[in-house]
Amino acid sequence: MRAPVTEATPQKAPRMKPWIEAIHAYAPGKSKAGDGRSLIKLSANENPLGTSPAALEARAEAVMPSLYPDPDSTGLREKLGELHSIDPARIVCGTGSDELLNLAVQAFAGPGDEVLFSRFSFSVYDIATRRCGATPVEAPDRDFGTDVDAMLGLVSERTRVVFIANPNNPTGSYLPQDELARLHAGLPADVLLVIDQAYAEYVAPEDDDGGMALAAAHENVLATRTFSKIYGLAGERVGWGTGAPGIIAALNRIRGPFNVTLTGQKAAVAALGDQDFVRNSRLHNQVERQRFVERIEALGNHGLRPLPSEANFVLVLFEGALSAEAAAEGLADRGFAVRHLPGQGLPQGLRITIGTQQQMEIVAATLREMAEAAR
Ligand SMILES: *Cc1c(COP(=O)(O)O)cnc(C)c1O
Repeated sequence: MRAPVTEATPQKAPRMKPWIEAIHAYAPGKSKAGDGRSLIKLSANENPLGTSPAALEARAEAVMPSLYPDPDSTGLREKLGELHSIDPARIVCGTGSDELLNLAVQAFAGPGDEVLFSRFSFSVYDIATRRCGATPVEAPDRDFGTDVDAMLGLVSERTRVVFIANPNNPTGSYLPQDELARLHAGLPADVLLVIDQAYAEYVAPEDDDGGMALAAAHENVLATRTFSKIYGLAGERVGWGTGAPGIIAALNRIRGPFNVTLTGQKAAVAALGDQDFVRNSRLHNQVERQRFVERIEALGNHGLRPLPSEANFVLVLFEGALSAEAAAEGLADRGFAVRHLPGQGLPQGLRITIGTQQQMEIVAATLREMAEAAR
């Protein structure tokens, strides 16, 4: 314990709050090798097909940088409402969905409160919780996925917010509609359930998890989505969320006043209008993910194990002679950045974004060579 600050022991510099000091900063996916070489990024789940041409065009035409953007992202909320059949008043946009995830905790939890999420889920949940002084509570996983019973078993009087990423990052696991509904039904009405659907558009529409419907029907559900993944606009930082008016009003109180840029709003509206691009991206991902998973499954005798994924990445476990660390180094030598996650309790795992067909062939072939050579 540090001695209390008195006049006799002046501080030489501002001191961060202890709960801020406890945060491990978010570690972004790598884009460079140790020696500074640029790598092909299969480390941040970006869209290998790029961005819809319509969105690129709208973005290029949106030039009035001397003026603030629309503070309420009105056109974007209207377009989202139209596409998803939601009243735009029940939508809030953010500087990426990251802003909204942070605001959700900030608005509903504080010191002494608990925020619950699964082990091996998105690292932002821990950061968002700690930065407002609340206490993170991690539920044990089931086969690396969400265990609804374990989650519900950890709900206490102090629980204020529950996070679930569906599909989950970094594991790719997915809770079907009935399980998500069961999680919601088991929560007290005054606990906010945040359903982070960053990868929802990669799931076949008939397998929808029902998160948006829960957000439409209940007072305690916020569903969030992003333009960073399938829409190919990660660089523009646009996300959105929907829920009951009380939740949206709380987030609007504390969000950045001009939180979505002009180019971001214009590009996102145009991207929503190009659902062919979204379908093509989903189809590409489905085909290449399947092909990649089969190639990795064929290396099972060398201890490589791909976890089932509904997202645009696969978490590959290395349980044989070839370690995840060595595999990541070998892939970097061949020009690819992937995500090693020892800081998230997964030293044996590499999260690999589904890239182009050619990229995935080289990655799979490189892993096979390394696995066969390892002893
Ligand atoms: C990528 C990702 C996000 C999206 O973050 P943005 O701030 O919208 O770019 C949100 N949640 C999860 C689980 C993610 O993987």
